[in-house]
Amino acid sequence: MATAYIGLGTNLGDREENLSRAISLIESTPGITVIRKSSVLETAPVEYLDQPDFLNQAIAIETEIPPDELLDALLAIEKSMGRKRDIPKGPRTIDLDILLYGRIIMSTERLRIPHPAITRREFVMVHLVELDPGLADPESARAYKDILAEQGKA
Ligand code: ADP
Ligand code: MG
Repeated sequence: MATAYIGLGTNLGDREENLSRAISLIESTPGITVIRKSSVLETAPVEYLDQPDFLNQAIAIETEIPPDELLDALLAIEKSMGRKRDIPKGPRTIDLDILLYGRIIMSTERLRIPHPAITRREFVMVHLVELDPGLADPESARAYKDILAEQGKA
């Protein structure tokens, strides 16, 4: 059994409803238990700027599903909620990313863990620290709360 962290993002349709629908679909997946939910933050788009603001949230889960199968389950939920991949980094009904999976470090063609966006986007670290203040980056062993504090000073 591993503790994993999933990042959720949505900027199309009823964004609050998309977050809660995705979380209940994750919760109803066999082999996954949702153990904590972060607060919801509204964020401006970063890479592709001409699109609505996002609502972002993160959840902690306990799971016995291995990382690559967990990705398949999340992609299936995205698809079932009508996500289409038109513009890379563009508007989406729901985006589900595996942020962390235990202390696993992996990099394959379709799966990078820890997710590279964690340390690039402050709100992701804010969510992780909210879910577990002691969480540290598996690669550098640095606590996310320390990385956040340092970036805040810069
Ligand atoms: P993004 O989340 O970067 O905006 P997408 O949601 O369209 O873009 O994801 C594109 C691909 O990213 C997915 O099909 C998946 O194979 C890959 N990917 C790599 N690492 C991860 C991860 N940790 N979590 C989710 N998807 C990932
Ligand atoms: Mg994604």
